[in-house]
Amino acid sequence: MRSCIKKPLLEGAREIPVEASIGRQLTAEEDRMLLNQVKDVEIFPRLCLGTIKPCHLHTDGCPVRQVKDQPCRFSFRCTDSIALDFLKYVRTEVTPIVASQYDITHDCNIECEGCFYYVGSDHGGRPEATDRATIDSFFRAEAERGVNYAEVSGGEPALAEEKLAIMACHIPRGVIYTNGTVPISRDIRYSIQVSIWGMPRDDKKLRGAEIFTKQVRNYRDDDRAVFVFTISHRTVDDILAVTALCADTGIPLTYNHFSPTTDYLDRLAAPDGKRDNYFRFSSNDDNLILTPSDLQRSEDLIAEAMERYREAVIYNPLFSRLIHNPEGFFRLDPASDVAIDCASRLKGTFKHFRVDLSAADDVKCATPNISCLHCRCYAQSLGTAMQRQTRVPMQTGLNDWIALWRLWCDLFLPGRHSFTRSASLMQGQ
Ligand code: SF4
Ligand code: SF4
Repeated sequence: MRSCIKKPLLEGAREIPVEASIGRQLTAEEDRMLLNQVKDVEIFPRLCLGTIKPCHLHTDGCPVRQVKDQPCRFSFRCTDSIALDFLKYVRTEVTPIVASQYDITHDCNIECEGCFYYVGSDHGGRPEATDRATIDSFFRAEAERGVNYAEVSGGEPALAEEKLAIMACHIPRGVIYTNGTVPISRDIRYSIQVSIWGMPRDDKKLRGAEIFTKQVRNYRDDDRAVFVFTISHRTVDDILAVTALCADTGIPLTYNHFSPTTDYLDRLAAPDGKRDNYFRFSSNDDNLILTPSDLQRSEDLIAEAMERYREAVIYNPLFSRLIHNPEGFFRLDPASDVAIDCASRLKGTFKHFRVDLSAADDVKCATPNISCLHCRCYAQSLGTAMQRQTRVPMQTGLNDWIALWRLWCDLFLPGRHSFTRSASLMQGQ
């Protein structure tokens, strides 16, 4: 297994006075120097999902939070050299992550039952930006705003490859959520998350086309690619079979859970549930929504799949336990049923841009049509779990913190995952 640390620590760095690190953000140079002072047993991370602010090791009080007689929440002693390597890797090479989300095209070449995109007011009636110069200056401005991680969806982003290439020129890292039917140039070094919805025999019914063979052909031997299996009521029993199938392809697999849109729920509830290409067969008796017993079965089968196909699966037991909570994953505002503790809500630097490059300021998140009540979207949930973990004192929560960050790095940094690496990470939990 390669070392997590690519860059050597600075040699001969001057000592930073301890008090200089308290209560303010260090410069990048100071941060590197402080890191250089960290010996094998100490590290000073203050982590807030993408931002690390150094703090000092205080065992009898935290001057940042001005709390006395308690160990500082963000300072701890770490004697595990592998954990320490990973913490340093996150600190030096992964963070800070400043993300925003971009819908890149209206087009899609398949028709998924319950599609989250072609409903609601977020996508319609907006002309798609196509002018190269406009797109170029938009993403240049985004990079200047500080965005260094792009989350890309659509429609189907692979149908707008030229825009992806322009985006990738300005924003160095990112993730593309794709149905995998069209290859994306390997020059674009973003993580490629290829959605699958079940066994190939179900593609036609669930997604309107048979696509599995194309997905494998396009992304076999591509170190950017991860299959994402969206588990639904109709496919929960296929978890082992789908995992075995993906293991055979050599493309690693992770799991998502079907999260219905409010439109899907409304149509199920309506006696005459209006039909269209994205609501073909669902009914109260036959739909995709996971029941409490499905969630239990999903958790059990994923655990078995991780055990049987440990080299092929990128997942972990902690996240599995959190996401399968039958009570739901998010805390909702009772008046609006909108999640109040979701890390993917639009705020601060995290913005959602539509296909005309306008910033959405009237919606809750980048998947605004999904019902928070049923939301178990894997990426948003993982980000939220990581954010929640920052509230747990590092001394007691270190293993969980590392487990969640390792999962994120494996899924969302291309080239991080490999069958060998994933297996060793899971064994380490
Ligand atoms: S791949 Fe499916 S879910 Fe995604 S935009 Fe196309 S139809 Fe909708
Ligand atoms: S990501 Fe899910 S839980 Fe969060 S705001 Fe959007 S729909 Fe709600």
